[in-house]
Amino acid sequence: TLFLDRIAAHNPTLNAFITVDRDGAIEAARAADARIAAGQAGPLTGIPLAHKDVFCTEGVLTTCGSKMLSNFVSPYDAHVVSLLKAAGAVNLGKTNMDEFAMGSSNENSHYGPVKNPWDTTRIPGGSSGGSAAAVAARLAPIATGTDTGGSVRQPAGHTGITGIKPTYGVVSRYGMIAYASSLDQGGAFGASAADCAQLLTAMAGFDERDSTSLERPAEDYAREIAAPASDKPLAGLRIGLPREFFAEGMAEDVRAAVEAALEQYRRLGASTVEVSLPNAKLAIPAYYVIAPAEASSNLSRFDGVRYGHRAAEYRDLAEMYAKSRAEGFGAEVKRRILVGTYVLSHGYYDAYYLQAQKLRRLIAQDFQAAFRQCDVIAGPTSPTTAWAIGEKTDDPVQMYLSDIYTIAVNLAGLPGLSHPCGFGAGKLPVGLQLIGDYFGEARLLGTAHQYQ
Ligand code: GLN
Repeated sequence: TLFLDRIAAHNPTLNAFITVDRDGAIEAARAADARIAAGQAGPLTGIPLAHKDVFCTEGVLTTCGSKMLSNFVSPYDAHVVSLLKAAGAVNLGKTNMDEFAMGSSNENSHYGPVKNPWDTTRIPGGSSGGSAAAVAARLAPIATGTDTGGSVRQPAGHTGITGIKPTYGVVSRYGMIAYASSLDQGGAFGASAADCAQLLTAMAGFDERDSTSLERPAEDYAREIAAPASDKPLAGLRIGLPREFFAEGMAEDVRAAVEAALEQYRRLGASTVEVSLPNAKLAIPAYYVIAPAEASSNLSRFDGVRYGHRAAEYRDLAEMYAKSRAEGFGAEVKRRILVGTYVLSHGYYDAYYLQAQKLRRLIAQDFQAAFRQCDVIAGPTSPTTAWAIGEKTDDPVQMYLSDIYTIAVNLAGLPGLSHPCGFGAGKLPVGLQLIGDYFGEARLLGTAHQYQ
């Protein structure tokens, strides 16, 4: 009950959990004890964890941070949840998040903002801010998240922990409430790369219930987690530094921490080489067309008929839909649905959606060209450290711009990791982002492990 007690003590301040499943956790822990006693334990047997509230959990409230699903008890487990149950992990509860994973600060949750454990006047990042805050405050040793445009890496960076988003298709999206299906990917949070490697190994794997799940042999993502073989364990590793990431826009304190981390990588034997991602600056406009377009389609299922919020009074079916959706969705979700339906509508589709898809292709090609010159790409996770709660809530475009370094990775479907690399002004954590080529997760984790 160590973690349950820590949650009871600190969650009232941090608001990292929406639901705490104390009874379920104790029952699962007893079952894990029996497995350990029987000599049938795996690496995660008996290890507590928290799930982002975007993952469906059988018999446990699954809200996705929304009033729309504030009464939704899922009748089934997401693939990720069932894999972790089978591994013997103990679910402590469900973590707070931006509504339907739309946001970068966790202020868009129906359940109130999450506080950054390093400074409770600041945001923890988003949309998986509850999972990140929970791990950073040691309310859970590991946690799941999802990353559509940075929602694992960015909050990991802002809370001083490690987070990885694998290659698109590695983790099944079955039972993970959809935001933008071509970008959504489950990911792992931990205090270290080694912890993330264990969690990702248990979460990943082919699932025929997700049509974009990749049919590949099972991988041990911890295979490159090893004690340093020499004082230059990264000798031969070529780290690409995208010129565009370092040109401008990064706060000075973030730049200083990132430069110091790169110096440390050079001491460990890695070499750095300048690369170019000329179209990366177009990632934000492309993403904020594609993601809302897919969201407007995915969220059409929330109509108040079979599950979720239904308006109390209505005259006919059309009004029931309209009122249920008007009441159930928050402002940011409505903004995205409006943008999405607009860019998909007749006459605008070619001008916006099709153009964004072309940019997406160009961005992916830029990464492929860069990976001919380097093994991993490094840069900041975010342009600034965690900002004050309320600072960007009136200006959605400012909020969107904070995703500048993370979004291109999702558009290309590549794996990305953020690990802590020191502190900026006000003792706030800074994240270093490592981007790998397709299926480069083990390399990213092994590299981060040497740094740590
Ligand atoms: N901040 C981005 C958005 O609001 C990314 C969110 C995410 O990765 N889920 O869409």
